[in-house]
Amino acid sequence: MAIIVVRFQKMIFKLFAAFLFLIFFSMVPLGWYSISVQEKLVQSYVQKTNDAFVRFIGFQVFTIIAKTKSVLDIYSRLGEIQDLDEERASKTLIELVENDMLFTGAGIYSARKVLIAHTENFQPPANLEHLFSQTLLHQYGISLFENIEEELQSVSTSHRGAAEFRTLIRNQGQVLGALIVQLNMDYFQRSLDEIKDFFENTNEYASIYILDETQRIIASSKDSTLEAGKVFPPHLLLDHNLYLKDLQDYYRSKDTPPWKVLFLPKGSAYENIKEYKRNFRYFLIFYLVVAAILGWWIAKKITTPLRKLVESSEKISRGNLEMRITPETNDEIGELATKFDVMRVNLRDYQNHLKKKILELQTLYQVGTIVSKELDFRTLLKTILDTVVDVMAADKGSILLHDPKTQTLKIAMAKGLKREVVQKTSLAVGESVAGHVFQTQQPMLVMDTTKSPEFQKIKKEQVSPGTMLSVPLISNERPLGVLNISKSMAYSFNDQDLKLFQAIANLCATAIDNARLYKLAITDELTGLFIRRFFFQHLEQLLQSSNRPFSIIILDIDHFKIFNDTHGHSVGDEVLIHVANLLHQAIRDHDIPCRLGGEEFCIICPNQTATDAEIPANRIRSMIESTPLISLGGKELKITVSLGVSEIGPDRSITKLYENADKALYASKDGGRNRVTLYSDIQSLNQE
Ligand code: GH3
Ligand code: MG
Ligand code: MG
Repeated sequence: MAIIVVRFQKMIFKLFAAFLFLIFFSMVPLGWYSISVQEKLVQSYVQKTNDAFVRFIGFQVFTIIAKTKSVLDIYSRLGEIQDLDEERASKTLIELVENDMLFTGAGIYSARKVLIAHTENFQPPANLEHLFSQTLLHQYGISLFENIEEELQSVSTSHRGAAEFRTLIRNQGQVLGALIVQLNMDYFQRSLDEIKDFFENTNEYASIYILDETQRIIASSKDSTLEAGKVFPPHLLLDHNLYLKDLQDYYRSKDTPPWKVLFLPKGSAYENIKEYKRNFRYFLIFYLVVAAILGWWIAKKITTPLRKLVESSEKISRGNLEMRITPETNDEIGELATKFDVMRVNLRDYQNHLKKKILELQTLYQVGTIVSKELDFRTLLKTILDTVVDVMAADKGSILLHDPKTQTLKIAMAKGLKREVVQKTSLAVGESVAGHVFQTQQPMLVMDTTKSPEFQKIKKEQVSPGTMLSVPLISNERPLGVLNISKSMAYSFNDQDLKLFQAIANLCATAIDNARLYKLAITDELTGLFIRRFFFQHLEQLLQSSNRPFSIIILDIDHFKIFNDTHGHSVGDEVLIHVANLLHQAIRDHDIPCRLGGEEFCIICPNQTATDAEIPANRIRSMIESTPLISLGGKELKITVSLGVSEIGPDRSITKLYENADKALYASKDGGRNRVTLYSDIQSLNQE
């Protein structure tokens, strides 16, 4: 049991874990979703401000750069830099710087790196050598902006607020000189600061940067943490590839501003994300709690009916088959419970069936052992009836036996019936219920005696209400009689009882048949008394069973020969039957009358001394003397008998007992017949 409990607990955790796993699994797309929302949120802010800023400043910056480009273009096309009029060149440069506040200074170098002309504020570059050596490598006529890109590397090292655009003036691959225009980066700076101030109110941007196409910072607004000239950290670029592509597109088309403006979101964008994160956290906790409750509930839903099933099976294993298993759910577990209950019912029915069978067998065994022990016919019938009424819990019972001589059924033994009914009842074969059962040899179960028309038809008389069972007694295919039992309440027996009753009846029939055969074997056909062999057997039995005294009375009909000789042998037989009948009447129930042979009889008197036995001996004598036989011819025949009585001696010898009784009998014959002699009397006479 402990193992089962553990297994089920494990199952709870397994199901619970599986459920949680599924929940977390579903959290992954949710997480992705949250990230994409964040991204979109940031991008939308960037896009919004980007567009606004580009509109605000883009064109301005573009114009400045375009102007610078055109200036550089003009000078780069100058064919003869050597022939350039210094004064005119200086004048052109001064005009350029004065006309546009973007430029702070400009200068032209010859191929020999000699400064030919310059404005007032022109700052000679520190790395002029480097400039020439690098740019010499390039072919004439390459993109201005490519040149700018290279030159801007040196710009980045210069201080904030100053930058230069430089280009080499070449002709047919030959470097003629270099033009350097110095830019007023403060102007960019101011523009950015203005934008920053504009957006500051909305508290949305920390810093604003202008990057070139290599992601190098050209200019930044105030308070920016990243310096001009540095490469903008790639991780801060929202979409690095997109940014680069835009920039490169510009350099190809050259008609839209080249700069992507990046804003580092600070205010509400972050706030929104933070709030989203916060909400997401609450949602996650709520989701987990709900998932846990739901998981536990589902696990319980599965395990509770399973546990009930286990409990039920435990009860069944302990032999309790009466507890009904009710399905709690409509699913497979419910189905299992239903099937389980069907199994339980089948088991219970089978168990009940087995119990009944065992009871039946026990009853049969009980009846069998009881009836098989008894050989005395009457005792057997009584035992059978008592046992049958007892085991079948009946109120009344009767055994009817068939007399082949008269072809009638008579009640041989009854229980609960009135004496006169028992004595009077004599049924012809086919008459009434017992006669019908005997004739058909078919058992009969009448559930309600007052309501069965079939029964009424057979019975043909008023009956009291009740249930009745009547079965034929058949031994060796020979019908012996009928066994009946009844109960005063209707529907007290069923078909099962009928089957059991028939089985019992079959046992009884065999016992009755055996007892009948035994009786035949030990009784004399003519007189119905026990035969000589039984006489000695019984004496032996008495000797074995107790130490108590017992006596025998031997009697012999006087002058019997005369009856035979005078009236014929059949009258002699009549005399013998007459004497036997009188013997029955004269003795007690315990005494056993036997015919030893011819006209010699003997009575065994258990527990009686010779003196005790003298009393019945005298009674027999006088009864026979006083009861003459009226023969078939109508003649009155007087009969007398001589008797001898002896008692078992201290030597416990049956032979002696018999000899002594015989001696006493002959003493009676010698003494004049029709008298009783005790062996003890002969002894005392002899001694005298
Ligand atoms: P008593 O005993 O008085 O001396 O004279 P008794 O005539 O009885 O003499 P006994 O005992 O010698 O006679 C026995 C006779 O009984 C002999 C036989 O014919 C007759 N007998 C023996 N068995 C039967 C029987 O079964 N039927 C008839 N009818 N007679 C029998
Ligand atoms: Mg004789
Ligand atoms: Mg005789």
